Amino acid sequence: MKFKLQCQSKTRQSNYTVQCNGVGIVCKNGRIRCKNHAGKSTGPKTPQGKLRSIQNIKNYNDKRNSINNKSAQQTP
Ligand SMILES: [Zn+2]
Repeated sequence: MKFKLQCQSKTRQSNYTVQCNGVGIVCKNGRIRCKNHAGKSTGPKTPQGKLRSIQNIKNYNDKRNSINNKSAQQTP
């Protein structure tokens, strides 16, 4: 019999009471997740991809800060 890891997350359909039956992969944080529960996602690997993800975070933070500053100026 072949050894197989079981996904550790709970299914949404069962209101988080039944464990997922999918074939799991060990993630970076030590948890076992199947492909449907974020097991396949490993993040950006190439330097270009890492740079792009950093740029996206910067853009998001700038946008959020500008919106917060505008609302702060309008309220008083
Ligand atoms: Zn799963």
